[in-house]
Amino acid sequence: MPTSDPHNPPTIFRPGAGSVQLSRAEIAARVAELGAQITADYRPKDAAGEPLHLICVLNGAFIFMADLVRAIDLPLTTDFMAVSSYGSRTATSGEVRLTKDLDQSLKNKHVILVEDIVDTGLTMQYLLGYLQGRRPLSVKVAALLSKPSRRLVEVPVDYVGFSIEDAFVYGYGLDVAHRYRNLPFVTSQVTEEG
Ligand code: 5GP
Repeated sequence: MPTSDPHNPPTIFRPGAGSVQLSRAEIAARVAELGAQITADYRPKDAAGEPLHLICVLNGAFIFMADLVRAIDLPLTTDFMAVSSYGSRTATSGEVRLTKDLDQSLKNKHVILVEDIVDTGLTMQYLLGYLQGRRPLSVKVAALLSKPSRRLVEVPVDYVGFSIEDAFVYGYGLDVAHRYRNLPFVTSQVTEEG
C-alpha cells in the first residue's frame, strides 16, 4: 500500500509465484505522493533560481514521466534520452548504448533522472556516470519500480514508487517485446509451478 515516505516505498509481495499487480489507483496515489515529496524537496532550491530538470529514460519511463511531471508543483524543464542494453534481461552485460542523447545542457541544473525500473542497477550506474560527466548541480533518481533482490551494483534511487519481488512486469510504459505499454496498470506473468 502507498506510504508517504519516498525513501521507504511500499513493498509489493503478493501471493502466487512471481505475481505482481499494481492497480491504476495504487499507481496514481503513489505518483501523487512522489510528486508532492519532490515538490517539497526542491522548493527552496527552486526559489534560489536553480531550475529543476527532469530527464526521462525512454522508452519504458514515458508514462511515469508524464504523470510525475504533472504531480510536481514547481517550474521545471524536461529532456529525454534513450538507451538500449546489450544482452538479455537474464544475462545483463552491463554495456549500455545511448540511442538518443540529451538535447539540453545540464549546466546549473538540478537533475532528476526518471526510470521505469531498476533491476540489476547496471543501466542506472552507466546513466549516472554519464550525467555526472555533464556537470549538473545535482542528480537524483526517480524510479517507478525497484527489484532490490536482483541488484548487482549499488545505485542510489532517491524516489521509488514500489519495491517488487523478482518478476518480469509490464504495463504502464513497460513492455513485453514492444507491446502492452498502454496498459494502465502493472502486471506480471505468473510463473507456473511444475
Ligand atoms: P538493469 O540495468 O537495472 O538490469 O535494467 C534496467 C532496464 O531493464 C529497465 O529500464 C527495463 O528497460 C528493463 N527491465 C528490467 N526489469 C524489467 C521488467 O520486469 N519488465 C520490463 N518490461 N523491463 C524490465
